[in-house]
Amino acid sequence: VAVDNLLEVNNIEVIYNHVILVLKGVSLNVPKGGITALLGGNGAGKTTTLKAISGLLASERGEVTKGSIKYRGGAIQHQDPAEIVKQGVVQVMEGRHCFEHLTIEENLLTGAYTRSDGNAAIQQDLEMVYNYFPRLKERRRSQAGYTSGGEQQMCAIGRALMSRPETILLDEPSMGLAPQLVEQIFEIVKSVNEQEGVTFLLAEQNTNVALRFAHYGYILESGRVVMDGPAKDLRENQDVKEFYLGMS
Ligand code: ATP
Repeated sequence: VAVDNLLEVNNIEVIYNHVILVLKGVSLNVPKGGITALLGGNGAGKTTTLKAISGLLASERGEVTKGSIKYRGGAIQHQDPAEIVKQGVVQVMEGRHCFEHLTIEENLLTGAYTRSDGNAAIQQDLEMVYNYFPRLKERRRSQAGYTSGGEQQMCAIGRALMSRPETILLDEPSMGLAPQLVEQIFEIVKSVNEQEGVTFLLAEQNTNVALRFAHYGYILESGRVVMDGPAKDLRENQDVKEFYLGMS
């Protein structure tokens, strides 16, 4: 079966501060319309991989020193973050990063600032976001800094949606959230994927939840992909069960 890959990461190496080699030849494919999970423990290189794709490494003194990253066939590894966003790729950072002093609705609207298709379309998308996250509608006039961790995570995803992305790079959406809320957020990611056709590449330490919602997974260890496969195969794999799912 021919797979239409939107994003192709080919054997990349990433070095921080000119000396620290963190990614040691990572390759992965992200098919259009899918949910792809990047799994692995603390420090495995998940965030670094997402930042390499979105162009955010430079601000951390990191650089891609080998390999290529292609989006819709075009090399993007030397583009700056704004150019990459323009092509439809937006990253939701770990730790959420909402503007604390703005209201939820103001935060959502900041996601639309690069758009030039006018106010009516933006208002319509605001309703679309509120449709997926009714909780954000209830909280729209609240200052983001006073909302809960779950609401801020929703706000960060909602803000990304406001730019009408083709692909969302989602870093550790489960971080710091109660299991029930994690489940809710993943359910919403799934419906955004199915109904809006948004492609997701998500980094998760929570292997269990990620493999239930993703179609395909890559497992990173110390900057290398050590295993990959369809999510349902990984869920049944003995090593994955033992080392990542906490059962044997
Ligand atoms: P986490 O879940 O903790 O974010 P991760 O899999 O996303 O883990 P990365 O954040 O990509 O891992 O980190 C991979 C390695 O790179 C770690 O050893 C980390 O210490 C190192 N690293 C990350 N950022 C920098 C930086 N700006 N400068 C130097 N080393 C860094």
